[in-house]
Amino acid sequence: MIRFSLVCANGHDFESWFASNESYDFQIERDLVTCPHCSVARINKAVMAPAVTRSIRNALPTKQNVALIGEGDAELRKMARDLHAKIVDATVDVGAEFPAEARKIHDGDAPERAIRGLASPDEARALLEDGVSILPLPILPDERG
Ligand SMILES: [Zn+2]
Repeated sequence: MIRFSLVCANGHDFESWFASNESYDFQIERDLVTCPHCSVARINKAVMAPAVTRSIRNALPTKQNVALIGEGDAELRKMARDLHAKIVDATVDVGAEFPAEARKIHDGDAPERAIRGLASPDEARALLEDGVSILPLPILPDERG
């Protein structure tokens, strides 16, 4: 028996057991698998377990987390700067290749290593939704540009 995490055309997550991959394909092709929530038969395999999908969705604000650190708070600014420097030091810059490269490393198609680079909010969101644990690099306003 194989358990698959599935998602219906209306976005409901559920899990179902199948005797084999072939059994899954057979039943899906004949619309024999229906969503327990809305009964539609348009079902796909989910990228990850529903619980994980939900927790990541919840952890993904549509707005970005920001902080305002005053000029006077030198210690906090130094910590952010040091953390940024540490991460830069420990990672290889892959630039615009970051989304593709991060995915390759996650999928085991590229050697495991720490990288940094550029990702649009949409690209970052897609990576997180696929279970690739990327994190934003702290950058102080006076370091932009
Ligand atoms: Zn449904």
